[in-house]
Amino acid sequence: MALPIPISCSKRVNEALSTTGIENSVASTILAPVKTEKDILENSMLEDDPNANCAVTQEEKERPRWGPQHKGAQELANLYSAGKRTQEYICVWICISLMVTNFLFILYHMKLENLSTILLAALAGIITADFASGFVHWGADTWGSVDLPIIGKNFLRPFREHHIDPTSITRHDFIETNGDNFMIPIPFLSWMLYEFITLPEEDVQLKFNRNCYVFLLSLFVAMTNQIHKWSHTYFGLPTWVMWLQECHIILPRKHHRIHHVAPHETYFCMTTGWLNWPLEKLHFWSTLENIIELISGCKPRADDMKWSKKT
Ligand SMILES: [Zn+2]
Ligand SMILES: [Zn+2]
Repeated sequence: MALPIPISCSKRVNEALSTTGIENSVASTILAPVKTEKDILENSMLEDDPNANCAVTQEEKERPRWGPQHKGAQELANLYSAGKRTQEYICVWICISLMVTNFLFILYHMKLENLSTILLAALAGIITADFASGFVHWGADTWGSVDLPIIGKNFLRPFREHHIDPTSITRHDFIETNGDNFMIPIPFLSWMLYEFITLPEEDVQLKFNRNCYVFLLSLFVAMTNQIHKWSHTYFGLPTWVMWLQECHIILPRKHHRIHHVAPHETYFCMTTGWLNWPLEKLHFWSTLENIIELISGCKPRADDMKWSKKT
């Protein structure tokens, strides 16, 4: 009987798999990486290797744990419906129109002497968006099921698909990538526009910093999945996007790989990723999961695990 055929592996993979990770007691405490290079290579899909040359065994080639050939990924991709696409299309266009109109009102009412407060409000908006992206992502990854009515197929399905076929997002167009995220800020931006139109100048100035905060929060919430898509794109990214990633102004590719290590239990923030390390060190997500499990008896990531095992 033929033994599993070792497929040609890159030097990088072999080196990482032969290391034992961080063993030094000082380094293994606070400064240790959340996931080692070995964890990443053994338990996540190698997205910068489109030809899958790094599959180590024949079994891994025949029954892929990740990627477009995975049975669960194919089943989930087929659940994307025409009705869902219409909802996404409408949300994208309403959100873009509201953003442009509110931005023009902000420019019109802006007073340059308040610039430092405006910038602080904008920064707070970006940090809130990062936390919100982590919270929603954690909730969708960890709880609920694709079988739930309405939210299951429409909103949880893409999260399940993304874990077993992380590169599918790079094949989605602008509408499919951004439809859901562009829906979230619509009520807030609509209210802001209503206030800009109806309130007298004095009241507009009183609410100006709050509106800058809400505007930047909305912009980054809307852009989160596009930023997320860029973090999975290893080929053909524009230079300015790579520059933003390298400066860690938006989610860098290497940083987001840490979330994609099975069982996907950390690094949920996807806008800038600034909060991932502190939240992990505070055991924020695991504490929240323990409390919910204790109260409800539900196991975290049970549905995610079920889909990953489909063959
Ligand atoms: Zn996830
Ligand atoms: Zn991802």
